[in-house]
Amino acid sequence: MRLCAGETEGPRILYVEDDDVTRKMIMLMIGARFPSLAVTVAANGEQGLELFRSWRPEIVLTDVRMPVMDGIRMAREIRKLSRETRIIVITADSDINRLLEAIDIGVNHYVLKPINKVKLVAALEECLNVIRQERQVREQGEFIRKLSRVVEQSPVAIMITDTAGLIEYVNPRFTRLTGWSMEEAVGGTPRKLKSGETTPEKYRQLWETIGRGEEWRGELRNRNRNGELFWVSATVSPITDGEGRITHFISFQEEITERKEAEETIRRMAYFDSLTGLPNRFLFRELLQKALAQAQRHRHLLGVLFLDLDRFKNINDTLGHSVGDQLLQAVAQRLKGCCRREGETVARCGGDEFVILLPELDDVQETARVARNIIDAFVVPFVLPDHQLFISTCIGISIFPDDGGDAETLIKKADMAMYRAKEEGKGMYHLYIPSMDNRAFERMALENGLRLALEREEFILYYQPKVNIKSGRIISVEALARWLHPDYGLVPPPQFIPLAEETGLILPLGEWVLRTACAQNKSWQAAGYSPVRVAVNFSLRQLRQLSLAELVERALHDSGLAPCWLELEIKENIMLQDEEVTIAALRRLRKLGVHIAVDDFGTGCVNINHLRKLPIDTLKIGQSLIRAVDSNHDEEVITEGLIRMARGLHMHVTAEGVETEGQQEMLKSLDCEEMQGYLFSRPLPPEELEKLLEKER
Ligand code: C2E
Ligand code: MG
Ligand code: MG
Repeated sequence: MRLCAGETEGPRILYVEDDDVTRKMIMLMIGARFPSLAVTVAANGEQGLELFRSWRPEIVLTDVRMPVMDGIRMAREIRKLSRETRIIVITADSDINRLLEAIDIGVNHYVLKPINKVKLVAALEECLNVIRQERQVREQGEFIRKLSRVVEQSPVAIMITDTAGLIEYVNPRFTRLTGWSMEEAVGGTPRKLKSGETTPEKYRQLWETIGRGEEWRGELRNRNRNGELFWVSATVSPITDGEGRITHFISFQEEITERKEAEETIRRMAYFDSLTGLPNRFLFRELLQKALAQAQRHRHLLGVLFLDLDRFKNINDTLGHSVGDQLLQAVAQRLKGCCRREGETVARCGGDEFVILLPELDDVQETARVARNIIDAFVVPFVLPDHQLFISTCIGISIFPDDGGDAETLIKKADMAMYRAKEEGKGMYHLYIPSMDNRAFERMALENGLRLALEREEFILYYQPKVNIKSGRIISVEALARWLHPDYGLVPPPQFIPLAEETGLILPLGEWVLRTACAQNKSWQAAGYSPVRVAVNFSLRQLRQLSLAELVERALHDSGLAPCWLELEIKENIMLQDEEVTIAALRRLRKLGVHIAVDDFGTGCVNINHLRKLPIDTLKIGQSLIRAVDSNHDEEVITEGLIRMARGLHMHVTAEGVETEGQQEMLKSLDCEEMQGYLFSRPLPPEELEKLLEKER
C-alpha cells in the first residue's frame, strides 16, 4: 500500500488550433518551457472534444475561431464533462461577446491576440500550480483516509484528548472495550474509566510524564460502562504541532485482564491461604519486613501477635475436618474484624495458628488492648452451618525493637510468648519476656532429654566440701548433681531439678544420687582417706515419698556406709509444711544416726516453734544472707540472731556461699565455725575432690 503522497506522472495538455504557423510557434514554446508537459494537438473544436473525452487532459489550451466547432462551444462541452479542467482561451480583443460567453462557461485564463508569450507562460504556470496543489490535496486526503481506516480497525483501543483532557476521538475498539460510544465519550474526560483501584500516585506520574512531552507506559485498572473492572496496558503520548507545542494526547490501551487474572491467581496461590483467603506466612513475612523498615525509619513501635486456638485438635478429631475448616474460616473473619486499622494484617501461619501485624504503635499497651479485644471477641460462639462452637485462643506478643529487629525473630518470640500464655490457661495472652528464651525453649528440649538422661547415664555428681575453720578440716562433702547433656554440655541443677520435680523424675534421680553418693563415700573410706560425711539434697517431693526411710536404709545397707557418714539436706521451705509423715521419716533416720540439715536457712520465713519439733542437727544459713553479711548491717544482725538461736536449740551452724575473706572474718567473729563456699572450694568432680581429701590425711 502506498501511503506517501507524490505525483505519479506529469500533467497533460490538449492544444486546439487550426492555424499551422501559430500552432508550431506555441508548440515550440511549450516544449522549451514545460518539457514535462504531455501535449496533444487538435485542429478544431470537434476533434478537440473527442480527444478530451478519451485522453482527459488537465489543461485545455484553445483558439476561439476555428472551423467545424469553435473554441467556445468546445469549452462549454468540456466544462459539462469536468469542472476541474483548467481552460485557457486565446482570443482577439475585439471579440467582446465571445469573451463574456467564456466568462460564463468558467474559463480560467484569457490570452489576447497577438499572443503575448509572457502572459501565456504565466497562465500555464498558474494552471500547473493549481493542478499540483489539487493533486497534493487529493493524495493527502487519500493518505489520511487510509490512516483513519487503520485507526478505526485497530485492535487497540485508541483515544485522543486535547490538552485539557477532553476526549476528541475514540475508535470502535475503545467503544467495545469500555462500553462508551463515540458520541458518549467525545467531549467528556477519561475520568469515567477510573476504577478507584489505581493509586493517585500513578495518575500523577502519568500526567507528569506526558506533560514533560514524554511517553508514559503502564498498566491501569479501569472500569467499563457497566461498572466491571478490566486491566489495560496503556501507552499515552503527547502530540505536538510544528513548533513542538503539545496539542493533544493520544492513548493506546490494550486489554490484559486475562493475563492479569492469571498472574493474580499465581500470586494468590503463592501468597494466600486457600482456605481462609488470608495472607499466608510468606506474604506475612514480606509485609512484616516492609513494616519493620518503616518502623525503623519513623521510630515506631511495632507488634506481632501469635495466636493458637485452644483445643482445636479436639474439634477436628471429634467433628471432622470439614467442620474444622469452617471454624478456621469463621475465625479468620472474626480476626479480620478485630484488626481494621490501616496496615493491620491478619495472616494464617498454618494449622490453627494465626499471626497479626500491628504496624504503628504508640505504646506497648496497644498490643495488649488488641489481644484482649480478640480474646473478648471469641466469647461469642462461632455459628457454623450445623454447629455452634465455642473456642478460645491464646496470644503471644512480641514488640519491635525490644524483642528483635527482624521478622523471623519477632515471629519466633511471639510464638514463645504464646506457649507461655498457654501454660497459664485458655484464653490468655502474654507479652514476650527475654528470659523466655531459656524458659520455654530449652525447657522443652530439656524435658524431652531428661526422660532419657538416667538410662543413658548422663548424670554425674560433683562434691563441694564444708570445712571447720577452727581445725581447718573437711567435715562433709555435699553431693551436687550435674547433667552432662549431649548438646548443652554441663547443665546446672536449677535448670533441671524443678523440671524433674514437675515430671516426677526426681524420684528415680534422687535415688540414683543417694546411692551414688553413699557408694562414693564408702569407696573413699575404703581407700583410706579420713572419713567425711556426704550430704545429699532432698526435695519436698522426695520427702513425701512414703518409703523415704526405707530408701535411705537400703542405700546405706547396699553401699555399706555407716549412717553417721550420711547427711540429708532439706530445704527450709519444707519446714513450713507440718507433715507428720515427713517428720516421722526424719526421726526414724536420725535415730539411725543420719545427720539432718536444713538447707538455705534464713532466706525464707522461719517458724521457730515448728523448728523445735523437727529432728535437726545443722542449720545451713543461706547464700543470700551470707553474701551481704560483711557489707550490710541488717544481714549481719539477722545472721548473728540465727546463730544464737541455733546454739539455743543445740544445733550446728554452717554458712553456705562464703566467697570472700571479709565474709569469713565476719562469720568467725559471730562464732560460726562451719563454712562452705567458693572461698574454700567449688563443687568438684570426685577425682578432684580426692586431691583435697589426700591433703587431709
Ligand atoms: P544448694 O543445696 O543450696 O547448693 C548450693 C549451691 O550453691 C550449689 O549450686 C553450689 O554450687 C552453689 N555454691 C556453693 N558455694 C557457692 C559460693 O561461694 N558462691 C555461689 N554463688 N554459689 C555457691 P548448684 O550445684 O547449682 O545447685 C543448686 C541447687 O540445686 C542446690 O542448692 C540444690 O537445692 C539443688 N540440687 C543440686 N543437686 C541436687 C540433688 O541431687 N537433689 C536435689 N533434690 N536437689 C539438688
Ligand atoms: Mg544443699
Ligand atoms: Mg543451699
